[in-house]
Amino acid sequence: MAQLLDGNRVRDEIKAELKPRVERVAAHGRAPGLAVVLVGHNPASEIYVRNKIKACQDLGIYSESLTPPETIATEELLAIVEQLNARHDIDGILVQLPLPPQVDAKRILLAIAPAKDVDGFHPCNVGNLVAGLPGPRACTPAGIIELLKRYRIPIAGQRAVVVGRSDIVGKPVAMLLLHEHATVTICHSKTPDLAAVCREADLLVAALGRPAMITGQYVKPGATVIDVGTTRVEDAALAKRLFRDAPEKLAAFEKKGSTLLGDVHPIEIPAVAGAYTPVPGGVGPLTIAMLMANTVASAERRTGVC
Ligand code: NDP
Repeated sequence: MAQLLDGNRVRDEIKAELKPRVERVAAHGRAPGLAVVLVGHNPASEIYVRNKIKACQDLGIYSESLTPPETIATEELLAIVEQLNARHDIDGILVQLPLPPQVDAKRILLAIAPAKDVDGFHPCNVGNLVAGLPGPRACTPAGIIELLKRYRIPIAGQRAVVVGRSDIVGKPVAMLLLHEHATVTICHSKTPDLAAVCREADLLVAALGRPAMITGQYVKPGATVIDVGTTRVEDAALAKRLFRDAPEKLAAFEKKGSTLLGDVHPIEIPAVAGAYTPVPGGVGPLTIAMLMANTVASAERRTGVC
């Protein structure tokens, strides 16, 4: 049976290590500060933001959430970002995506001061990532590397395959794996014979947003499989098919009427892989932990603590 890579455990470790750093910054005059901008009322985004604010509270990081209405114009949101850029007590600014269609999301992300860009999405920080220079790294990809290192999963010299080429996950995780000396292949929706490419991987990262698509035939026996996907699924026929040999999971689905699925098959992969991240409880918790880490690092730089 494969080793389960426990994201909650690693998250707790990271938070425990951050706590004294937060206290050191606070001893210099003020706590690190994170501003989260949540436009409108997207239920999923509201949950993400709530979890981020809660993580700040656990660590003693000052947090502020700004909730402009769904109808906000690009110029108005730009003005909010500019005000946050100018504030001394705010070290990190996060504009929760997706933004409503009338807002020019690219302009908003470009307006965030790169030093406060704790999501690591600003082109300056993407450039820093590519050049191997210091700067905030995108949280989910950074969390994946952290998880692999803390479980002492070798990266250098390994064949890594990343499925998905988004700016948020696929591209930055591929770049981080490259910096760790993996031989990296990036796949996407136009990649022919995806299963054959994936089977070459010692380290497979699935970030495609297609629930349970990566089945056992995509995975080399003994490989490490990192599942980034998170999709809430209400399809009873799919649940029945996936969980036909896992009656307790099927019962849980039937009770709740939905389940959270990753991109990898939740039953087949643990039987083939050497190590894998579950959904939930794998990559998800690390994303918020790395957001906290980026905020603390920004506060340390800005207050001169490090
Ligand atoms: P995007 O939709 O931005 O990107 C998906 C990528 O997967 C694209 O590059 C797309 O290819 C590729 N893809 C889609 N279908 C296939 C297919 N059938 N075969 C091969 N490649 C395919 O998604 P994100 O990167 O933002 O997110 C991916 C998943 O990760 C989602 O489920 C999301 O919810 C989850 N996520 C989880 C996080 C966490 O903290 N756990 C954080 C961020 C995301 P192409 O470019 O050709 O269209």
